[in-house]
Amino acid sequence: MSAKAINMTKKIIEKQKEKLQKQKERLEKELNSLARRNKRVKGDWITKYPQFDGGNLEEEADEVEEYGNILPVTYTLELELKKVNEALEKIKKGSYGVCEKCKKAIPQARLKVYPQAQYCTKCQ
Ligand SMILES: [Zn+2]
Repeated sequence: MSAKAINMTKKIIEKQKEKLQKQKERLEKELNSLARRNKRVKGDWITKYPQFDGGNLEEEADEVEEYGNILPVTYTLELELKKVNEALEKIKKGSYGVCEKCKKAIPQARLKVYPQAQYCTKCQ
């Protein structure tokens, strides 16, 4: 399909795919511990609310604070998982490794450290 992406050998793409799948597993595991899947919106996660047992007020305040800390973490994980899924989708379509902005090939060194990269070093 896209001629620009084809600098990468099949072997490298397979390796990237493996890395992405491992990341996907890790991210989903982390998300599962902090949030639950939103059944209505694909790829969306709802942060679990802390369980209030109606006892100690001080403890409840701590739990609210903890919830506030979890939210951005969940959001970051969710975003990362989305990128990983998109990268896997691109591998399927044969457009993996192409910068979404300038449509040039993303340097392989960058993809090695960050397989779900959407942009090249210039456009990031
Ligand atoms: Zn670019």
